[in-house]
Amino acid sequence: MSATRRVSIFGATGSIGQNTIDLIRRDPHAYEVVALTGGRNVGRLAADAAELGAEIAVTCHDEELPALRAALAGSGVEAASGDAAMIEAASRPADWVMSAIVGAAGLAPGLKALETGATLALANKESMVCAGPLMLAAAKRHGGTILPVDSEHSAVFQALLGEDISAVERVIITASGGAFRDWPLEKLATATPEEAATHPNWDMGQRITIDSASMFNKALELIETKEFFRIAPDRIETVVHPESLIHALVGFTDGALMAHVGPPDMRHAIGFALHHPHRKPLPVQRLDLAAIGQLTFRPADETRWPALRLAREVMVAGGLSGAIFNAAKERALDAFIARRIGFLQMTDVVAETLDRLSAEVGLNDAVIDLDTVMQADHLARKAADEIIGHQGADLWTS
Ligand code: NDP
Ligand code: MG
Repeated sequence: MSATRRVSIFGATGSIGQNTIDLIRRDPHAYEVVALTGGRNVGRLAADAAELGAEIAVTCHDEELPALRAALAGSGVEAASGDAAMIEAASRPADWVMSAIVGAAGLAPGLKALETGATLALANKESMVCAGPLMLAAAKRHGGTILPVDSEHSAVFQALLGEDISAVERVIITASGGAFRDWPLEKLATATPEEAATHPNWDMGQRITIDSASMFNKALELIETKEFFRIAPDRIETVVHPESLIHALVGFTDGALMAHVGPPDMRHAIGFALHHPHRKPLPVQRLDLAAIGQLTFRPADETRWPALRLAREVMVAGGLSGAIFNAAKERALDAFIARRIGFLQMTDVVAETLDRLSAEVGLNDAVIDLDTVMQADHLARKAADEIIGHQGADLWTS
């Protein structure tokens, strides 16, 4: 009988966080919950922290602290808020930490958790995109492990088990194509945030769902693949697979392709990371292949999804370009959600930010430490906001 494991969940109130809690709730005696964190949804955060007997609950927003305190009154769970509290929670010893904050905000807590030697289940792909070398070095230095939770990367990880990485010829990650897969190209310019926030197969947070429609999510995942598995950019491919049942394929030098097939349910990748190196039963649907009938594929067209072309440029440039790409993407997404720019302008904003900062910062500069990355992130947000100012003005006056 194994002892209880100490677990923390960063981004506990989100889609990945709630799926993680669902798995933990099914076997509560196996886990001791250290920290749960969230943002605005303090009601959910407090209820889960009290139910699971967490040591501490943290909201990233200071103004939400009174509400969190009130909701936790009498529960015995500590309440805290802000960036410093997030880092303090991440430094508390835990065996397994889920990194499921959305955006670059997930980087610092994940890195801190790795510095404690914990196993980091990494849903926050932005950490790898912005600071892959730092994440891998922290894990190595402190004896921690990073397990991918993004479904494609979990699939690649599983296809590589027991294999020799030098025999890998290519990695293919699949893309559903998102909300606008079958839309005529000329309609995309007027697509609304609500239309972009519906996904044909996956039930996810709003931001990643819109990123699926623009393929910025796949763009981040291509970069994540390069950083996580240290695979050359020209060996990484993507293909549109509307059924979202094959999550990734690894091609070997003998021509074999190993595919990972499963239902579009994140509890598979989360559960794989939770139980690694063992496999345990998971409450996910078992596929009936005869009933499914067929699996289809189409090319990932870079005219329809120019974010994929930008991802290639970023993979080749390396260095700080991932942090700049991600920060510009986050601001462009904010502006699209706020209806300040159109759907297609998100790519223009990111491309222009990369262009502008390649002169100012040096895209290829090494990712030396967290400060360097956060400075590039900050400069990219500033540049993107200026560009959005101009783009937005164009949108409303044309
Ligand atoms: P959600 O938007 O559903 O949840 C995000 C979580 O982060 C919430 O707990 C939110 O709090 C919290 N949060 C938001 N902003 C901040 C901030 N600035 N600082 C600290 N916490 C913050 O996102 P998802 O669960 O969909 O995605 C989480 C991560 O996992 C992303 O990196 C995404 O790309 C990745 N991922 C998600 C998949 C999915 O199926 N959803 C699949 C693969 C990867 P609150 O809601 O309380 O405000
Ligand atoms: Mg994914």
